[in-house]
Amino acid sequence: MASVRQKHTKPELAVRKLLHRLGYRYRLHAADLRGKPDIVFRRRRKAIFIHGCFWHGHDCDHGRRQPQSNQVYWIPKIERNRERDAAAITALSSMGWSIKIVWECELRSFEKIAGELADFLGPAKIR
Ligand SMILES: [Zn+2]
Repeated sequence: MASVRQKHTKPELAVRKLLHRLGYRYRLHAADLRGKPDIVFRRRRKAIFIHGCFWHGHDCDHGRRQPQSNQVYWIPKIERNRERDAAAITALSSMGWSIKIVWECELRSFEKIAGELADFLGPAKIR
């Protein structure tokens, strides 16, 4: 497992494909924004993080999984990720950004997540 944050993961590609199909245009990995959101809508001032349930400590079956091996490695790592995620959301919110987290497990229901993303983003076409 790489210590550097992975880009272009499978869940991320799934969300990008979905957004594209819904007619949204976006930018990726905004390096200038705290936490480097995966998908960024600058004019809307909205950003999406796509999080793997395990590594970001989601409160779901997958996120609560507790492998017995290598705990000294992954427990602190998940804790750091959670702290970093929370700090990024706080910082971005204070700058007027709206943030949506898409969890990997939510991608099992494409219909639902499509509806949530549309609610979050508003109309696909803005002037
Ligand atoms: Zn989850």
